Amino acid sequence: MLALQGDFREHREMLEEMGHATFEIRKPSQLEGLDALIIPGGESTTIARLILSNGFQAPLRAFCASGRPTWGTCAGAILLARHVDRLDRPGIETMNISVQRNAFGRQVDSFEADLEVDGVDGPPFRAVFIRAPLILSVSYPARAISTLADGTIVAARQGNLLATSFHPELTHDNRLHALFLTIGDTRGGGK
Ligand code: GLN
Repeated sequence: MLALQGDFREHREMLEEMGHATFEIRKPSQLEGLDALIIPGGESTTIARLILSNGFQAPLRAFCASGRPTWGTCAGAILLARHVDRLDRPGIETMNISVQRNAFGRQVDSFEADLEVDGVDGPPFRAVFIRAPLILSVSYPARAISTLADGTIVAARQGNLLATSFHPELTHDNRLHALFLTIGDTRGGGK
């Protein structure tokens, strides 16, 4: 987990319950040897600032390009996007998605919805949205893998990269975490 700010502990707990070893990453050198990386939800401007001030931008771009599974949830999805509405400094800018921050308005800052997600079998996934971004558009090689009933895109995948505008780590359903661990591209390139 990138552990600069946000809810990385909840992701850790879920993956540890699934039997995986997890680590809190606070220095770029700690990325070496990792099989997969989660960029958690939190406050995207804060995480972006800490990415820049800790020299993480180039190492994170290289990690994403290495083909290893990389997943951004909520603020993490904002940081993976190439285009973000109202982010005052660059993130990692690696996924071909365009994201709007705090897109669901004040009355519905937080809500839950049942989603169908490509690659997730079984009943709908109960998704928790907290001051969530929405994915305005997705272009090749990224593709939408889940939408709300009104067609709003809330999850996307681009090879080894996954972005969700909701927080699977805050539920007791580990199917998204299980999917994440399968999306590596050992050929590299991250496409
Ligand atoms: N609103 C936050 C942001 O734009 C994201 C919220 C979240 O990660 N739950 O950074």
